Amino acid sequence: MKITDHIAQAKQTLFSFEILPPLKGQNIQSIYNAIEPLMEFNPPFVDVTYHREEFVFKDRGNGLLEKKTTRKRPGTVGICAAIMNRFQVDAVPHIICGGFNQEETENALIDLDFLGIDNVLVLRGDPIKSETYFKPDADGHAYAIDLLKQVINLNNGKYLDEELTNSTNTDFCVGVAGYPEKHFEAPNLKSDLNWLKAKVDAGAEYIVTQMFFDNVKYFEFVEACREAGINVPIIPGLKPLATQRQLSLLPHRFHIDIPEALADEVQKAPSNEVVREIGIEWCIQQSQELMDKGVPVLHYYSMGKSDSIQKIASNLF
Ligand code: FAD
Repeated sequence: MKITDHIAQAKQTLFSFEILPPLKGQNIQSIYNAIEPLMEFNPPFVDVTYHREEFVFKDRGNGLLEKKTTRKRPGTVGICAAIMNRFQVDAVPHIICGGFNQEETENALIDLDFLGIDNVLVLRGDPIKSETYFKPDADGHAYAIDLLKQVINLNNGKYLDEELTNSTNTDFCVGVAGYPEKHFEAPNLKSDLNWLKAKVDAGAEYIVTQMFFDNVKYFEFVEACREAGINVPIIPGLKPLATQRQLSLLPHRFHIDIPEALADEVQKAPSNEVVREIGIEWCIQQSQELMDKGVPVLHYYSMGKSDSIQKIASNLF
């Protein structure tokens, strides 16, 4: 079922979460173990991230390093099929521009359609770790909006090969990312919102936000979106802080602020067990306020660990 239908039919705020494929070499059980404790809160959908290739250097023992390409967390499509089958829940694969040409993207979308997957979250992806700027593949997409247009074309039965006749229309509901604190490459929030509006005008039906720790940022973002004519559901993304290290890691990685009050408390905490409790309590307060304001869904970034999310959800759902 489409995310937009889940939202339209819901009588109250829904619970959902995002998982990461396991590192290459691990098995699917780690995914099941992360999902199982959260099923009692009836998530209508679970997002599965996509991870592009990385360069690694292998020491060849003679002073020489060999540069190799590897995908450390493969398996997004297979995991989506496996969790739909096991938990009867909609799985939402993330699909990205980075590392794919248009033909590969089309074939992946055909697989997803055949598997009965109704939703995709369309993203550009980040640059490879060794590169500063995002570089599209030869014949790949440079921005999420270009990938989005490819999905919408497929929804209209328009494949890359224009000579295909009697082609089947797919029917994906497409979500995109939004940034309450601005995407880090955008010159200003206005410009970022213009591109977000372009994605919605091109067919995106809902938005999931980057994590934020101050609800005011989300409320102001939603207001600015509405003023800009963006009228689709805006799903807030939340993450409970779990370690002291995340005080610098999360702002560095996701270009977000951590409010002073939260950062001060975390800094004073004697151990990461205490940080985890602080993070959970902060996230419950954030979630409760968002719920009271009637957000359609509370979407949690689990990063493979479900215990904090379980504690938060048991207070709210
Ligand atoms: P875009 O919408 O393409 O925007 C990128 C930048 O370019 C922005 O600054 C925007 O303002 C600007 N822009 C947009 N369109 C144009 C245009 N046509 N011309 C000029 N400028 C333009 N990454 C992964 O690799 N895998 C994942 O699974 C994943 N999941 C995510 C889930 C969520 C909810 C979020 C918020 C992010 C996720 N990311 C993921 C990270 C995401 O890929 C990065 O934040 C990336 O840098 C931007 O992706 P985007 O889709 O927002 O890009």
